[in-house]
This record gives sequence, C-alpha cells and structure tokens, in this order.
Amino acid sequence: MPSTTVSLDDVVLEAAAHLYVWALKDIPQDLRDALAAARQRETSVTGIRVLETISRNVAIAHEQQNLVCQDTGIAVYYCRVGEHFPLHPARIYAALEAGTRQATVEHPLRSNTVHTLTRESTGPNVGYRVPIVHWDFVPDWDGLDVKCVPKGSGSENMTFLKMLVPADGVAGIKRFVLESIVTAGGKPCPPGIVGIGIGGSADYAMHLAKEAIARPIGSRNTDPVVARLEDELYGLLNETGIGPMGLGGDVTVLQCHIEHADTHMTLNPVAVNYQCWAARRASAHVAADGTVDFDREA
Ligand code: SF4
Repeated sequence: MPSTTVSLDDVVLEAAAHLYVWALKDIPQDLRDALAAARQRETSVTGIRVLETISRNVAIAHEQQNLVCQDTGIAVYYCRVGEHFPLHPARIYAALEAGTRQATVEHPLRSNTVHTLTRESTGPNVGYRVPIVHWDFVPDWDGLDVKCVPKGSGSENMTFLKMLVPADGVAGIKRFVLESIVTAGGKPCPPGIVGIGIGGSADYAMHLAKEAIARPIGSRNTDPVVARLEDELYGLLNETGIGPMGLGGDVTVLQCHIEHADTHMTLNPVAVNYQCWAARRASAHVAADGTVDFDREA
C-alpha cells in the first residue's frame, strides 16, 4: 500500500530490517531445490548424512522461525537506484544502516562487527563503512531494488585473488579456481556457490566474484563463452571429491557463477569468492510512492 504518513527514509529502513532477518531465516526456493538435488546425486554415506542434516536444519529453522545458521554474517546490500528515485543514495545508505541496526537490536541477532585492528565491537552489525553497499544507477526509472546478502565469515575467509598474465589464458583461470577450491576444502561449509570474477582490475574482479555468488542458483552468464566456462568449472569442481562439509563425496559445489568485465590487454585478473550452503539472499523493490514488494527469489 502506498504510504501517506511514512517517509521514504523509513520505508527503506523498515525494508532493510525485514530483508536482513528474512534472508537469515528463509532461504530461497532455488537454493532449497539445489540442496535437494545435491542429496539425490550424492553417493557417499557421509555426504548424504551431511546433506540430510542441512535439509533438517532448514526445515527446523522454517518451523521455529529461526535462523538457518548462527553466523548472521556481515550485512551486504546491492542497490539499483533509478535516476528519478526520490531519495538520494546518501539517505538510502543511512536508512540501510539504521535498518541493519534495528533488525539486530530488535530480533535480536548476533552482532559481528568489530574495529579491524582493536577488535572492539562497533555496534549492532554496523560500523565504519558497514553495512557494505554496492550501487548501480539506472537511467529513466524512479524505483529502487535492494538485495540483502548476509555473508558468513567461514565462506568469506575462503576468498582468493590472482593477477594472472594474459599468456596464462583460460587454462590458467581454470587452474587457479581449482587450486582455490581445493585449498578451501571444508572450511567454507560446502556445498555452496563458487563466484568467480574475471577481467576488469584487481578490485573490480573481486567485486564481480561477489556479485556472482548473489545470482539465482544455476543462472548462466549471458555471454555464451563465459557460460560455457561456468558449465566446465562446475563439472571440474565436483570432481575434486571434497564433498559436503569437506568430508568427501560427489557434491562439492552447488553451482559455479562467473561475472566478467573487459580488461587491459596486459591484465588477466581472477577472483574467487565462496558462498556457503547457507547462500542467503532476499530482495525488495521499492517504488517512488513508498510501495514495497518483497521477493525472496530475485
Ligand atoms: S560459512 Fe555459512 S554455513 Fe558456515 S558458519 Fe558461516 S554462515 Fe554458517
């Protein structure tokens, strides 16, 4: 319903608070389907047991309206802002920060944020430059899309960047991705989504890898050359035998997503970011009149 009394700042704040908690409790259907399919194709007894435990965990979280994992992560938001959306990005950021704070205090959620050197708590999942917000600006539009992707530390710690040289080619990219996932082993709570960013610059490749993990599972890059590499790496990574929780098995990753950018002729950056089985995400579409549509699957 359009709001006549609530400011757009408050609408975005409440949407952010809802998204953060919702994402932590109710994982998207495509992730549920991918976990169920993984259970069907897993042949290792231990792997099956792990996947059945994950499935029971998701069901109990649903029944008891509780979190699918205790790690409430770091709050990451992806915003697509229409050029005619009436709230300036500075105020959108303030609303996302206040919504994250509100959700953490009111639920209550575990607070994870600390000063990176002193390790002292900086507040209810907020701090200097936290939450982390990525921006896209859309011409000829007056809406706002917000996607919340809480990111657990177990998987975030398994992040890798390498500045390959062009002569390393696609073979070098594949080798580095395989080395990264084998190095990660069971630490990022597999099976999850491997996000890969290729091209651009060092920082942009990492940004792209992060974007890749937030896509619906099994979606494919629109560039057929990149999509073929997604298919190939998905197959290769599942031949590593790492298996669910690193205890051995057929299913090491649920999917492999790649985002790419064109790059300098002497660059070949590759970034790998892992998203654990609890690949949480939830979205809201905010209209200029304050109407909000929530979307768990976007
Ligand atoms: S990596 Fe994911 S599943 Fe593992 S503890 Fe962290 S949030 Fe939970």
